[in-house]
Amino acid sequence: MLDLFNGSDAERTEWVPSAHLHRLPSDEAPYFCDEIGLPDIGKKLAKIGKRDYRRMHLEKLALADSLQAAGRDDVANLLRNCCTQLIVDRYSKGVRVRGPNECKHPLCPTAQLARRRRLEGELIPPIERFLAKNEGMQGNLLTLTEQSCPAHELNYRHGEILRAFSRLMSFTKVKRAVKAYVRSVEFTRNPITTLWHPHIHTCIFVSKTEYFRKGSKVYISQEQWAALWRKALRATYTPVVDIRALKGLTSPLTDKGRDALREVIKYQVKPGSLTYWQNGKAFAVGRQTPELYRKPGDDTLQPMLNVPVIAFCDAVKGRRLVATSRNLQGNDDLDFTDDPRGEVKALDLGEFICTETYQWHTRGRDSGFYLVGRSFDEPGSTKRGGSAMGP
Ligand SMILES: [Zn+2]
Repeated sequence: MLDLFNGSDAERTEWVPSAHLHRLPSDEAPYFCDEIGLPDIGKKLAKIGKRDYRRMHLEKLALADSLQAAGRDDVANLLRNCCTQLIVDRYSKGVRVRGPNECKHPLCPTAQLARRRRLEGELIPPIERFLAKNEGMQGNLLTLTEQSCPAHELNYRHGEILRAFSRLMSFTKVKRAVKAYVRSVEFTRNPITTLWHPHIHTCIFVSKTEYFRKGSKVYISQEQWAALWRKALRATYTPVVDIRALKGLTSPLTDKGRDALREVIKYQVKPGSLTYWQNGKAFAVGRQTPELYRKPGDDTLQPMLNVPVIAFCDAVKGRRLVATSRNLQGNDDLDFTDDPRGEVKALDLGEFICTETYQWHTRGRDSGFYLVGRSFDEPGSTKRGGSAMGP
């Protein structure tokens, strides 16, 4: 299973620390801690690199308010209790941020970041192995769209587009050409028309020599892809389809190819597209404007508030948003343990300085993460080095 979070109970009990790593630009002054005491206790957490955790938390709370108003208390509480404490590990060359109790809900801005990192860790190594084993592969980005739909159709249309994708991949012509794939669903919402646009980004691997050869029998042109997608979608119109080669996504995998893969799985809903800011406050879209939707257990459509947020929740519930072909699923030799030491080493954040703990406080305009404690013990250094064997 690749979908790491659907907010189920089983998922929540297995706590995975979500670590966000930041490398400070070299011209930025290194961070120094005070040696004695905590004179700066109560200090507000500033932006870390590009990331503004305060802003993300306020957006989270705005989404929670919207969910609560719509009667979705369970998801609202998940978001409200998500990462109310932040642990910041300071190193000479960078910073790592961890958030315990992460909600893992696709709506949550920080869970999206953590999910992306987990997905990269899960998807990239099998693709790397696949490309090492299979010479002459070329990755292509295939975008499959369908017509936009109102919020009340989103859940159904999401199911349809996933079914259509399975159909597409089962067509003989496609099976012959595509050696492996990664697919990801993205939802965009037009704030003017309020219509949703679910679409699929998929990275398909084809054999360069076989597929792009002159007079190749397996080659599929953009027009042919559109026709195949129309058939798979069982649509009465020709849907918009786009295919292009991804630079660096070849055998063997290059850094550029890795970046291209990251783009494919980037997000399911653009961060911030379900919230807006006014006078320094965050609000969820749809809090003021009613849209047609149905109440639980009632099939009649009626104008309701808070529709965008609940429509997205309903559409992603229990569904796998990112999936791969079977030959990219052999992850047996992968270790999923989130060992912070290993990661730090991989990114070379330099010398450990200290760990700071920040707590969220809601204080109107002064809401933010405030420093409550500091430790000089390096995380992960408690590992015993001595003999583990008994007498
Ligand atoms: Zn969260």
